[in-house]
Amino acid sequence: MLIDDRQAMSAAYKAQIEKLGIPISAGRYRELREYADENRIRISGFRNFVGDIETIKKILDDIYEIGQDFPKILDERAGVVLELDYDMDDEDFATTDSGHIIRLNASYFSDVNKMSAEYERLANEKHFVYGSDWRAIGRHEAGHVVANVYSIEPLDIAFGIKNTTRKVELFEFLKRDLSLYSTAYEDGREIISESFSCYYSKIDNLFVKEFVQACMDISGKDR
Ligand SMILES: [Zn+2]
Repeated sequence: MLIDDRQAMSAAYKAQIEKLGIPISAGRYRELREYADENRIRISGFRNFVGDIETIKKILDDIYEIGQDFPKILDERAGVVLELDYDMDDEDFATTDSGHIIRLNASYFSDVNKMSAEYERLANEKHFVYGSDWRAIGRHEAGHVVANVYSIEPLDIAFGIKNTTRKVELFEFLKRDLSLYSTAYEDGREIISESFSCYYSKIDNLFVKEFVQACMDISGKDR
């Protein structure tokens, strides 16, 4: 039965890919793989990628840039693994699993125009950082990896910056000043990811500057 299930799954998976287009050539795949190697980021699942590899290269660039400030995310074993996933629902552009595996939603990443339009709609509503674009997606997820790899507690840092211990007050501030999504979880896990979106998208924000500096202080101790 298990084997039948697996075969059914892989047929469904194949159908998902075929719906989106034709996978990249072996040459393009090799080019992407070499680019990832140069950036010291492992990739997985891109053999079946149907989009433009330049889109993925930009995400690799964005993660690499953050790795210059937080080098452990480029660590050979514990660092980022970038994975393409055809099974994600439309709710997420990307997610971070097991602390360091960044999964990209193939249905968005195979069509950068669709992804860009959808992301910008959400940023305009301040659901995500106002003024940011789809490039913030990789920066956001890299923020989660930094939090995990350096054991950063985003909520504690944010409380310290705002000099309060009242979560309601803090979250009201973040909704106005950063993004609605930064308050999506009570444990504050989205504060670091949305701060990284903002900071590395070069959007000026005083809270974010202080927040990322505090993260850098922690990573410096740990280096
Ligand atoms: Zn997140």
